Amino acid sequence: MLQDKNEKRTPLEELGEFALIKHLTKDFKPTRPSTVKGIGDDATVLDFKGNKTLISTDLLIEGVHFDLTYMPLKHLGYKSVIVNLSDICAMNALPTQITVSLAVSNRFPLEALEEFYSGVATACRIYGVDLVGGDTTSSTKGMLISVTAIGEGDSKKITYRSGAKPHDLLVVTGDVGGAYLGLQVLEREKEVFKVNPQNQPDLEPYTYIIERQLKPEARKDIVELLEKLEVKPTSMIDISDGLSSEILHLCEQSGVGCNLFEDKIPLDPTVIATSEEFKMDSTMIALGGGEDYELLFTIDQKDFDKIKGNPNLTVIGHMIEKEEGAHLVTRANTKIPLKAQGWNSFND
Ligand code: ADP
Ligand code: MG
Repeated sequence: MLQDKNEKRTPLEELGEFALIKHLTKDFKPTRPSTVKGIGDDATVLDFKGNKTLISTDLLIEGVHFDLTYMPLKHLGYKSVIVNLSDICAMNALPTQITVSLAVSNRFPLEALEEFYSGVATACRIYGVDLVGGDTTSSTKGMLISVTAIGEGDSKKITYRSGAKPHDLLVVTGDVGGAYLGLQVLEREKEVFKVNPQNQPDLEPYTYIIERQLKPEARKDIVELLEKLEVKPTSMIDISDGLSSEILHLCEQSGVGCNLFEDKIPLDPTVIATSEEFKMDSTMIALGGGEDYELLFTIDQKDFDKIKGNPNLTVIGHMIEKEEGAHLVTRANTKIPLKAQGWNSFND
């Protein structure tokens, strides 16, 4: 993708650091009332009036967290922002600003960074967040991205991982397992392409799961929905590492146990079909596969009527006493202890 001879390639040295920053950020104009001063000074100035400030940051390394052979730079820009916005949403708060820091080697021309920033801009527009700063530098090898998301929340609504009580219901948004399987399909096609570059894969049947991998969304809509339904979750986390590991985080930090019901886990039909194709168990994919960026939360039973029937929300289990442990209750009604493991570990 970066080697395309017909594409214009402007070396970054032609601009220099300051011109590059100016060029990449010129179209980002602050829109939020809380942004007092955005890009262009030594620090950004924010004012959240009476609300609390939330901050979350992530570092993404080429070859470790993303692979540019199948990840278009525009999607990478979008996803780098989304994964951070998701962390703010997982506190039952709303993201308001981001900073983006980049280190790139001389393999990347200006046009590549423009692509990346067009994805950042799309995320900013859709989620209503301001880009208010960052840092730009060179790396000897590859690309490194660090995004910091800033958000604001009412102290009465901010939700931690630690508030779940026995008898609370465990709720997940959307469906799970898709992003992991999307990655498996992309990895498979990459191998096929290495052997036969002429091969044109038909990825149409996998559109949903590939999109889940390349273009995830942060569930800001759920934070707004919960506000509208007047539901304050007792604990909450976003699903970056797989259902199993996130449930165990809630259990550990809340000092409770959990029963998760296999037949309740929401799976898209594409996930079921592709799991079969890969000869993998779809429940194991849901438990161990990551990067869905759905929200997982607990609510008091008295709030069940408020969420009942909402197509975005599925009750998948309930919390119990800590001493009873955290288990998957299978379709055959056997109990298997939940483990915080990714897919590879399931093969051992
Ligand atoms: P300093 O020398 O104080 O670090 P810089 O020249 O790096 O300042 O940055 C100037 C301004 O541009 C600052 O507001 C900074 O936050 C912003 N900035 C730098 N790099 C980026 C980037 N990659 N994306 C967005 N804003 C950036
Ligand atoms: Mg700087």
